[in-house]
Amino acid sequence: MTDAPKILDGKKLSQAVARTLNKKINTLAPTVGRPPGLAVILVGENPASKTYVAAKHRFAKECGVRTFDIKLPDNVSERELTQVINDLNTNIEVDGILLQLPLPKPLDGAHFTRMIAPEKDADGLHPLNQGLLMQGLPAPRSCTPLGVMTMLDLALSNISLNDTTTLEDIPLASLAGKSAIVIGRSQLVGKPVGFLLLERNATVTFAHSKTHDLPAVCRAADIVVAAVGVPRLVKGEWIKPGAIVLDVGINRTDDGKLVGDVDYDAAASLASAITPVPGGVGPMTVAMLMSNTVENFERRNGIQV
Ligand code: NAD
Repeated sequence: MTDAPKILDGKKLSQAVARTLNKKINTLAPTVGRPPGLAVILVGENPASKTYVAAKHRFAKECGVRTFDIKLPDNVSERELTQVINDLNTNIEVDGILLQLPLPKPLDGAHFTRMIAPEKDADGLHPLNQGLLMQGLPAPRSCTPLGVMTMLDLALSNISLNDTTTLEDIPLASLAGKSAIVIGRSQLVGKPVGFLLLERNATVTFAHSKTHDLPAVCRAADIVVAAVGVPRLVKGEWIKPGAIVLDVGINRTDDGKLVGDVDYDAAASLASAITPVPGGVGPMTVAMLMSNTVENFERRNGIQV
């Protein structure tokens, strides 16, 4: 048993991101002559996708980002979708393009994600941008991993979030000498979050479904990032006392409850800081989408990011 952990509130932290971006946009938009623009493409009627898209529009409004709302029917042809993306790629008022996944069958999400101009990639999932991450070069980074890193900075700071906190109040934490485990190696979360941790000098272990003795590997880590998609996989006894636990997982249990990849109550009794699910990493993913859009806007207008 350690002291009560710091609960990393993603909703409050995302408000700090909104304040930061709002301040920046209020300064930059008059100089550039327009606000940053984010195009959100929704294909079909997937209820979860509709909810996510609505949340993105709402958050954009809070930040002062202009959104372009593009809704296409389930049966949109490949040619039509290609045309929509090409038009947005050349629209000078659009700095970020988000294609909400999954796409209805038979459309291939990965194929259309690659069509987005890399400098307008809002999600940071374009292969060119993921390659630039590997090389440590500037480019939009994947949103969920960026959200995880901001939560880690919060965990290692002595900041308590309030109604005026901005990201400038939260220092970049030093991760040198810290060991981190990333459980999960997806293109979307596991791999990019591992590289972001490495970029910040953590000693990183990638664990996955073929890892031997995962509990022991996990117990050695000062920072645990769980991005697996298995409800409550990470048990309390896997957590080193005082570790920081960042739970990316969003899973619905048979009784309809939303839970993470970590057994929250058990882990919280040992961790120094932990993200809840829901209300942890989830809201930060949306926040970082907006942060990427604003950074794209800055780069595209020759402003130092
Ligand atoms: P994925 O299915 O693409 O990848 C899961 C990874 O977990 C794989 O690399 C696999 O090797 C590993 N894995 C599977 N079973 C394992 C096990 N028993 N032990 C160790 N490793 C195991 O999933 P993803 O897209 O990376 O998403 C992971 C979770 O994060 C899901 O619950 C998803 O809903 C959630 N997610 C949340 C956000 C957010 O904004 N909070 C964003 C993206 C994904």
